[in-house]
Amino acid sequence: MSTMETYKHWRLDSDADQVLWVYFDKQGESVNTIDHEVMEEFSGIIDNLSQDKHHKGVIIASAKKNGFIAGADISQFNKFKDIESAVTLLRHGQDIFNKLEALKIPVVAMIDGFCVGGGLELALACRYRVVESGPKTRLGLPEVKLGIHPGWGGTVRLPRLIGGPQAMNMILSGHTVSGKAAVKMGFADVAVPKRHLVRAAKYYALEKPKTRQATFLQNLTNTKLARKLLAPYMRKQLRAKANPMYYPGPYHVLDNWEYVGVKGNEAYAREARDCGKLFFSETSHNLVRVFFLQERLKGLAKDSHFNPKHVHVIGAGTMGGDIAAWCAYQGFTVTLQDREPKFIAPAIKRAYQLFKEKCKEDYLVQRAMDRLLPDVEGYGIAKADVIIEAIFEDLPTKQALFKKLESEAKSTAILATNTSSIPLDEINTVLQTPERLVGIHFFNPVAKMMLVEVVKGDRTDPLVIEKSLSFVRKLDRLPLPVKSSPGFLVNRILMPYLLEGMLLLDNGVPAEAIDKAMVDFGMPMGPVTLADTVGLDVCLSVAKHLQQYFPDSVIPPRLISLVEKGNLGRKSGEGFYRYKNGKKVDAKSTAYDKPLQEISDRLVLCMLNEAFACLREGVVADGDLLDAGMIFGTGFAPFRGGPIHYAKTNGISELYEQFVKLQTARGAKVSSLHEWEMTEA
Ligand code: NAD
Repeated sequence: MSTMETYKHWRLDSDADQVLWVYFDKQGESVNTIDHEVMEEFSGIIDNLSQDKHHKGVIIASAKKNGFIAGADISQFNKFKDIESAVTLLRHGQDIFNKLEALKIPVVAMIDGFCVGGGLELALACRYRVVESGPKTRLGLPEVKLGIHPGWGGTVRLPRLIGGPQAMNMILSGHTVSGKAAVKMGFADVAVPKRHLVRAAKYYALEKPKTRQATFLQNLTNTKLARKLLAPYMRKQLRAKANPMYYPGPYHVLDNWEYVGVKGNEAYAREARDCGKLFFSETSHNLVRVFFLQERLKGLAKDSHFNPKHVHVIGAGTMGGDIAAWCAYQGFTVTLQDREPKFIAPAIKRAYQLFKEKCKEDYLVQRAMDRLLPDVEGYGIAKADVIIEAIFEDLPTKQALFKKLESEAKSTAILATNTSSIPLDEINTVLQTPERLVGIHFFNPVAKMMLVEVVKGDRTDPLVIEKSLSFVRKLDRLPLPVKSSPGFLVNRILMPYLLEGMLLLDNGVPAEAIDKAMVDFGMPMGPVTLADTVGLDVCLSVAKHLQQYFPDSVIPPRLISLVEKGNLGRKSGEGFYRYKNGKKVDAKSTAYDKPLQEISDRLVLCMLNEAFACLREGVVADGDLLDAGMIFGTGFAPFRGGPIHYAKTNGISELYEQFVKLQTARGAKVSSLHEWEMTEA
């Protein structure tokens, strides 16, 4: 093969053992993604390889520090002219990977780091896959998370290699797996530590061991009869997780596997045709939008030089304990302070459970435990780079603590409060340097909730905000900059929605109907279940707090009486529903014969009204940030693109009219249309 050939995104290098190294090195990018130009060059490389007499084997590797291939370039998704041109491009990509698969010369994909989407489809068309065995290596086909499905042969090659059930499980969920799991499942040949990776890849390229084949049983699952038997069962399982109306992608994959299987051109043709159509669905447009919203949050303060090592957390209760554990899990040295050791012990126990669940290897659990130090005396205060207060929600107590912290902490340390409701500019009045105080507001449960609100008081120094945003990123969380105002963003919008749900209950609408209406809309759980899960005492205290600022809001009598009786929701065994061992006990369902959409319209309008108010008041800087906050902070139906995007797509003035009708029917005040239309503050 000519070594003179040069490419923009690929680098070819021949080694002394006549192995050709094909490095993917996308120009101008830190991560490899596949676009049209990359594919065209790759196609040229494969054509040359088919004539190559000089080399004994080929290894495809990444030249980037970070990962193998992150998939197709998502910014290209919305650029197709029409379905036909999308399908043509996908077919062209499939042809290139088919050429790769047909090469006589052995080709090894050497995978170090993420290998997802189109990246895995490329690797699946190689003869061998040699993967790194560390925690950073993840393989998968997560396309359904963007509202589409694999379109370069992945839905055909994966089931062919590992059988229908395992492959469908991966593709329909979009989950990624580790290198070791990929070997166990059968779609990677070997997983080795980084230091052995090159040697292992060369072994496969030069020695050409027998390629991995599907087992007898795996092959059996792909027969027509087995597909007919298995598919309905898989479809039923899928229905429990994804509504086909909003998430058609995985259903297409399953249908195609059932009807045409994994052999022949027809399977590829159907894959490309359906994927091409999905690019033009509203779901895909919105999920791509959500992807870029997430990128925006990830990119906040990315140039910050703040490099904290030690975090001191004060208050080892529900929040402080879990925040401390999460920080230790993410590699920080953490000191955890409370009034007495007995308040810290339960937090350490929970942390151990978390590490065991997350770390897999015992020595990593031990290391995380070693990083988390109980510290009743508060020795950590003087050493910490970030101090997070999570004590009782009481202004004088917090003020007294911050006065002490201000005098004892390093002058460069971040002083953060996790308060849910007390305005920063009230806490900071006792400080000599009020500009140091920032809010870093985590949600419960800390290990599950991706969003963290970074709260700016009127006096907070912008540099402190920048450092806090960067710290939150270092915790692998998504930071959302918000203004210190009642309820910040998420609780402010969520609470009227939850209260409206409870008012519907008071009006005799069954809880199951309310919850189903919102699950059908696309929320991860309905408002009644959500209130029970958060805890009715927590709901009531947030509602009371917000009522001080928004006196028109109504607290439903049933909420008050349930809390008085000690029925606090899931944690106490009873709230709006009954629970046994934390699981809902199915009650006799009450009939409800009106359209559920009436319920969801009413509840969503309530949320929208509050969302527009937040924009007007500048709680967040723009509608995109608001949408991101609600999607990552509450699970707001991602395929709808966020509340503001939803309102814009469905017509702000039409939705406003509906809202006015509802409000006037109950004799309540309404904001003017102008207030809704003023979407950006
Ligand atoms: P909690 O009652 O579970 O824990 C508070 C802990 O602080 C207790 O262990 C207590 O012993 C300790 N404490 C109190 N005063 C102290 C002091 N002076 N020095 C050291 N320790 C002290 O409370 P929580 O639910 O974890 O809430 C803590 C903070 O987080 C509050 O400001 C709350 O508004 C906020 N928050 C709570 C949630 C939630 O869902 N619970 C969510 C977000 C934010």
